[in-house]
Amino acid sequence: TGDIIRAAITNQTPRGLEFKKFTDAGALVPDDLVHALVEDRLDQPDCLPGFLLDGFPRTVAQAEWLDGMLKRYGRALAHVVLIEADDGVILERIVGRATDPVTGHIYHLKFDPPPTAEIAARVVIRKDDTADVLTRRLQEYHEKTQPLIPYYEHTGLLRRIDGLGPVDRVKARILAAIQTTSQNAT
Ligand code: AMP
Repeated sequence: TGDIIRAAITNQTPRGLEFKKFTDAGALVPDDLVHALVEDRLDQPDCLPGFLLDGFPRTVAQAEWLDGMLKRYGRALAHVVLIEADDGVILERIVGRATDPVTGHIYHLKFDPPPTAEIAARVVIRKDDTADVLTRRLQEYHEKTQPLIPYYEHTGLLRRIDGLGPVDRVKARILAAIQTTSQNAT
């Protein structure tokens, strides 16, 4: 959802102008606006075989809406992946994140710096990837998104993943959790 919202902002659509006020401040965009985006996106043919939502749902109201919407389409979630890391680790990872607008690759200025001077000169840092805005985003997370943990724990779909360590290790943990639980379900 973050990517879709940023695309609307870049394209200066009427919705994009509305979103910008929220994202710049590190606040969540109101649920009804995000619901419309998600429903439009899931309606695209590439979502027919399956889909992965990143950054959605972020509130209990969004999760309840998603349940109802998927039910209407005769679909259901298979897994909910929770990648856990302390706020201090998140701060270190986010302040330093830089995206190459040409390839879309996301670098980290300290942990995974751009490999050439040319790429270093063109990387873009998200406006909300500052310590100040991140503090607000984390507050929003703890207040509005964290209640989703008991919500999904209750359904048996929650897969808790240790988010510490290199990207490859975290990825392997996610794949293992998804494969194990899919096997158990069949
Ligand atoms: P992200 O790229 O996931 O870090 O999201 C960036 C920003 O987009 C957030 O700080 C929110 O302002 C907005 N956003 C993304 N996903 C959602 C969502 N599910 N609900 C509300 N706002 C969202």
